[in-house]
Amino acid sequence: MTNENFQKVSAIRGMNDILPADSGQWERLESLVREWLRSYGYRNLRTPVLEQTRLFTRGIGEVTDIVEKEMYSFTDSLNGDSLTMRPEFTAGMVRATIEHNLIYDRPQRVFAIGPVFRHERPQRGRYRQFHQIDVEALGLAGPDIDVELILMLARLWKILGLADIRLEINSLGSAEERLAHRQALIAYLEGYKDQLDEDGKRRLYTNPLRVLDTKNPALQEMADNAPRLLDYLGEASLAHFNGVRERLDDAGISYRVNPRLVRGLDYYNLTVFEWVTDRLGAQGTVCGGGRYDGLISLLGGKPAPAVGFAIGMERLLDLWSQARPAQAQPECDVYVVHQGEPAARAAMRLAEALRDEGLDVILHCGGGSFKSQMKRADGSGAEYAVILGEDEMAEGAASVKALRAEGVPQRRVSMAELPRFLVNELVASGSE
Ligand code: ATP
Ligand code: MG
Repeated sequence: MTNENFQKVSAIRGMNDILPADSGQWERLESLVREWLRSYGYRNLRTPVLEQTRLFTRGIGEVTDIVEKEMYSFTDSLNGDSLTMRPEFTAGMVRATIEHNLIYDRPQRVFAIGPVFRHERPQRGRYRQFHQIDVEALGLAGPDIDVELILMLARLWKILGLADIRLEINSLGSAEERLAHRQALIAYLEGYKDQLDEDGKRRLYTNPLRVLDTKNPALQEMADNAPRLLDYLGEASLAHFNGVRERLDDAGISYRVNPRLVRGLDYYNLTVFEWVTDRLGAQGTVCGGGRYDGLISLLGGKPAPAVGFAIGMERLLDLWSQARPAQAQPECDVYVVHQGEPAARAAMRLAEALRDEGLDVILHCGGGSFKSQMKRADGSGAEYAVILGEDEMAEGAASVKALRAEGVPQRRVSMAELPRFLVNELVASGSE
């Protein structure tokens, strides 16, 4: 085959490469997030990207955006199984918990960070592969833990220096309460049947609560005046909701009760919440979560309560870079340049010796003039260039050139002393 037969292959629409210039910001965010999760006792649970499709149809609910139109599903040609790329973490986390008997004798606080997949129309803040920070507290009935999750999120916004993220909460009550409300809601929505869009008409009888979740501005008033689920809550649900509200007040967290907050997934009950901002254009929800006491038994486990949330990492990063513009990070501390074969070989040994001392080192590879090598050294962002030429080799030494500081003379340091010398210099200059 000749080259002309190959067409350039690009990434799938809505699935992004995270390039070296940006990945540093992702890594810094992830490391802050892991520290934050540890500070509340959460441990990592890693589940596969692929699961049986029925985990999601059952776990998320048939009449949801995700299951109806957003899943990447395919048939495994080996055995005919229907498989799905996870569109969210919760169902898989719960499956793993049941499968490994994790909450047999004690509750579990677990988290996952990674890619999830939804076949949506790509736009700012909405992608087909995106990343979530997913946090689940399994085996705890709340309302204390519900509020702890919210406090935890408030702390993360503070750690990242994010302002203008508002908290909205609601209660979805129990299944019985939702049923009573559902009948009233269907009766109400039937009066607006003609105005409903295709989704709305279909969901009117299958999932009327989701009709209120409309993004259609023309239907806002209809949705605003609909019977409120909050008015159908019984004593126990109300006590739970009030428990959440009191503790939020105790903690000085402000919030708005949004009676129309229903969340996109079917499995929620009692507490649901979202953190929203105006700083992200149309996709303003940074984090959504809530209680899902029915899911564990729905997926075949011994009934146990649970609550959790998921943060969209792309949206969080967008906010974070608005608050704190990303600075270009140096690729290394020290860039080693060299001229001549003996120097090239000594440079490789020297670079290893520097790494033994904990320094980040790029060894120039591929030859080139001294000038072009120095240009690379400068472009790497390194604090120092270490130079090995014929003169240096003759002396068993290397030259050290400060690349960032003004007016520092080039110095010659013996090869044996060089690692310690550079460590001390970097500590003194505050780069290490
Ligand atoms: P939306 O109403 O924006 O579609 P959702 O209710 O479907 O959100 P969840 O399933 O709750 O979202 O996912 C948790 C978080 O993941 C969201 O709050 C958001 O920050 C992020 N998120 C959801 N879908 C996408 C996407 N397609 N691309 C990027 N981030 C997303
Ligand atoms: Mg969605």
